Order: sequence, then C-alpha cells, then structure tokens
Amino acid sequence: MPLVVVGSVALDSVETPTQKRDRILGGSAAYFSYAASFFTSVRLAGVVGEDFPPEHVALLKSRNIDTAGLQVVEGGKTFYWKGKYLPNMNDRETLELQLNVLADFQPDLPESYRRCKFLFLANGSPKLQMQVMEQCRGASLVVADTMDFYIKNEPAELRALLKKVDGLVLNDSEAKLLTGIDNLVQAGHAIRALGPRFVVIKKGEHGAMFFSEFETYVLPAFPTEKVVDPTGAGDSFAGGMMGYLAEKNSFDPKTLKEALAYGTLVASFTVEDFSLDRLAQITREDLDQRMEEYKRMLSF
Ligand code: AMP
Repeated sequence: MPLVVVGSVALDSVETPTQKRDRILGGSAAYFSYAASFFTSVRLAGVVGEDFPPEHVALLKSRNIDTAGLQVVEGGKTFYWKGKYLPNMNDRETLELQLNVLADFQPDLPESYRRCKFLFLANGSPKLQMQVMEQCRGASLVVADTMDFYIKNEPAELRALLKKVDGLVLNDSEAKLLTGIDNLVQAGHAIRALGPRFVVIKKGEHGAMFFSEFETYVLPAFPTEKVVDPTGAGDSFAGGMMGYLAEKNSFDPKTLKEALAYGTLVASFTVEDFSLDRLAQITREDLDQRMEEYKRMLSF
C-alpha cells in the first residue's frame, strides 16, 4: 500500500561534540520517506526553495519516493534548521530556525495522494496537518507527530487534531509538556484520552513506549555503539513504523508491535552517520538481519 507523508524538507546544519556539517539534507518528511521506502512506495508532500540542491531530490527519487507533491517555490529559500548536540548526544539545542518557504506552505495534494489509505502528518503546524487530513478523507490510518513548539503555540488546534487522528507519535519531553504529567505511563494514557487510538512515546536512546486500549509496552532501542548524529532518529522511527504497516496493509496489535520494532531498527541505522548517509548504504536485508539480532537480544 502506498503511504503519504507531509512534513518539512530541510537544509540542516548540525554540530556534535566532535563534528560539524553545514546545510545537509534533513527535515522530518525527508527522513521519514527515506526510512519508509525500505517497506513501501512513498508519496512525499512538502515545500522547498530554489536553493534546494537537485541531487537531494534525485536521492529521494532513487528510492522510488514520489515527489510530485513536493512544491518548489521560485526565488524562495528552503526551511533551515541549525542544531547542536550536548556531550550526552541525546539532548540538543536549536540554534537557528528559519521557516522560509514553509511559513506560507499551502498543501494541495496531487490526486494520487488523496486516495491513499496510509497517511503520516510529520512535524508541522496542526492547522496544516488538519488541512492535509481533509484532503485524504479515505485514509484508513492517520498518524501524526508533534513537537514542543506547537504544543506551546497552537494548543487548541493541536487538541482538535488529536480528536481526529488514529495515532500520535511524540517525544517523552513533549508528552510531559502536552499533559503536564511526569509519569510517562500516565501521560501516554492521558494522551489517548484526548483522541488517538494509540500513542507512541519516543525516548531516544531508551527506546519507545506504546499505549492502546489493549496493551502498554516498551521496546528498547537497538544498542548501537556508533552514534554520529541523532538528527532524524524520531522521523526515521516513524517512517520505519508506518512503512511496515503500509507494507502489511494492517495495523492490528501484532503488526503494530513488529512495526515499532522495525522503526527502532531503521532509527538505529540513521544515527550512525549524518543526514541520510547511513540509510543510503543499507538494504532491507540489513534491516532484517538487525531484526534477528534484536529478537535474540529480547528473548530470555
Ligand atoms: P528528529 O531528530 O527526528 O526530531 O528530526 C529532526 C529534523 O526535524 C531536522 O532534520 C529538522 O530539519 C526538522 N525540524 C526541526 N524543527 C522543525 C520544525 N519546527 N518543523 C518541522 N521540522 C523541523
């Protein structure tokens, strides 16, 4: 089943304690679509400026990612994010954020996108996420991501969105901010009470928690020794998860758990290099092999 994603496509400058990269390919939708492309065909909706290097579009297309919904604004500048990681490589600071063409983005999905059954609303304004959802009325699974910026600045719009989506994926700190509850188990269930049928709380190097009416569980992160740049781990996690659900055309509890595990594993590869560089080196077989190791690790 094809999968639609709408979100940011960015040029990122990233500083880690030991290395620095300037204006590399990033953005929630870029990470998400590449990660999902290991499992299914992806249709990407977003916006970039004239400064967006054509080789980045070529890279996405090389993965069979449909970019018909990626608008290019003439004379415009691409969304830019600059971040710096603290020595623990988990916490980061945003040093600069220029919305540029993303500020006026009006999604108008191509017809083929509108018929999709699987939809992911990556980080973005809840108003815009809602607009996209209204263009894909036939979707059977709609999952959204959100972040502190929108929790603080557009709380009413976010709550309206939560009433309509099937699933929500967010970070631990964002779950606490959204609910005002420090205990993540309570926070997960409190978010479910706001609307989504399931909630996934990402805890960075500590894995992910899942909440639904039927079950609550935690999956650990894959213990990779090599963490070069954690940027995009969350979006790759969501891409792996949604890609797998779309591939199986199912979101029953068993498939959801497998999907969370695949999301975990794609993210574990993403952090091994900057941008999409590590994902560009691997195949589905590498993911499946890591899945075997992950299963062995979890069985006792
Ligand atoms: P992650 O590390 O998975 O949380 O995602 C990092 C990506 O999110 C980077 O590539 C950024 O370009 C992108 N990003 C940062 N801030 C925003 C924002 N306000 N809206 C959309 N995307 C963002």
